[in-house]
Amino acid sequence: MTEQIYLVGGAVRDQLLGIEVKDKDWVVVGSSPDKMLAQGFQAVGKDFPVFLHPSTHEEYALARTERKTAPGYKGFQFHAAEDVTLEQDLQRRDLTINAIAQTEDGTLIDPYNGQQDIKDKILRHVSPAFAEDPVRVLRIARFAARFDFTIADETQALIKQMIESGELEYLVAERVWQELDKALGADKPSRFFTSLRESGALKALFPEVDRLFGVPQPEKWHPEIDTGVHVMLVIDQAAKLTQDKIVRFAALCHDLGKGTTPADTLPRHIGHEARSIDLTKALCKRIKAPKEYQEMAVLIAEYHTHVHLLFELKANTILKVLNAFDAFRRPERFQQFLLTGEADSRGRPGYETSAIPELAAFQQCRDTAAKITAQPFVEAGLVGPAISEAMQKQRIIEIKKRQSDWKKTNSS
Ligand code: ATP
Ligand code: MG
Repeated sequence: MTEQIYLVGGAVRDQLLGIEVKDKDWVVVGSSPDKMLAQGFQAVGKDFPVFLHPSTHEEYALARTERKTAPGYKGFQFHAAEDVTLEQDLQRRDLTINAIAQTEDGTLIDPYNGQQDIKDKILRHVSPAFAEDPVRVLRIARFAARFDFTIADETQALIKQMIESGELEYLVAERVWQELDKALGADKPSRFFTSLRESGALKALFPEVDRLFGVPQPEKWHPEIDTGVHVMLVIDQAAKLTQDKIVRFAALCHDLGKGTTPADTLPRHIGHEARSIDLTKALCKRIKAPKEYQEMAVLIAEYHTHVHLLFELKANTILKVLNAFDAFRRPERFQQFLLTGEADSRGRPGYETSAIPELAAFQQCRDTAAKITAQPFVEAGLVGPAISEAMQKQRIIEIKKRQSDWKKTNSS
């Protein structure tokens, strides 16, 4: 059998959707590892026979079939041989829209009607073997978020079965994080969570997010009332404001503590910030979120209300917030704080475009306080911790000046 190479998966799909093709995946039929190596390809697949092209460095996978012999990933076995056909390889793929191949001359090979599903905006599984890999539950929610597609009824039913059978317990943290991280990159990340919620997967995978739905907040500040609805609006606002996924993740976590507010104190959420911190840490640990995501999410959990309360804060509290974010040395972290605060405020129906004077005012505080440097105190002969103490005092004086400016503008 002579070797044939096809473009497959995301690249074919994205091209049909008319969106930018990021990375190209290829499938090679009628070849073998030895033949690939002889042609200069470099073996990279740890789990599967995948090779890098000697010059383009794109991924070329030998056509394979897969089957599950036992629960969990250890029971996943593949068979890659020269007699595996293109149709067989396409059949092991998750969704019909991801199971279209293209020949070099542009001809599409589409045995599972992926093109029709692209036209109808439907995510449909290719075969019942879909149920063998729980990561597909996350992938499908991510595609629902990215493309605004709906999940076919029969696929949704299969997902529900997978959840009931406990299949999601086999998901490893790294894969959950990887998919969540990609989902946060969507224009409307909320769709990822609402899609997971519809199948019941949200409760299984992110119970701390699922729990927010149905929890009331005071209508005076939150016309949407429901905390889950609010958090979804906030992550979508965050996605509108910035590409920074750290901000989007912090937006997801900021109000987690509202999910464990004692029922007899609702709809108020006294002390939810401390509960958000604990839940955020536990979530990050469970899904192995990178350190920089966790650090910012925990800080935002602690301080997010301080954006809205700025005009009522004492000067030394304002300085405490600035120091917590290391705002003088790392101004970008302070921006992440302000962006999350902005998303939090705009993530309420009716407030999407409202003025938020606290943002510029907080920035003013940072900028004036940042002008206080160590140099004059060193020159005045201070040494050791006395320098930092003097700087903090002077920064508080500067912040107080801003506060009296605000009072003047407010009363004039
Ligand atoms: P993205 O645009 O996010 O890269 P993709 O569809 O290209 O999306 P990849 O992870 O790059 O996703 O995988 C390439 C192709 O491999 C997919 O289009 C799909 O055909 C197949 N595939 C990937 N992961 C799975 C999986 N868990 N189960 C079944 N098929 C998969
Ligand atoms: Mg891809």
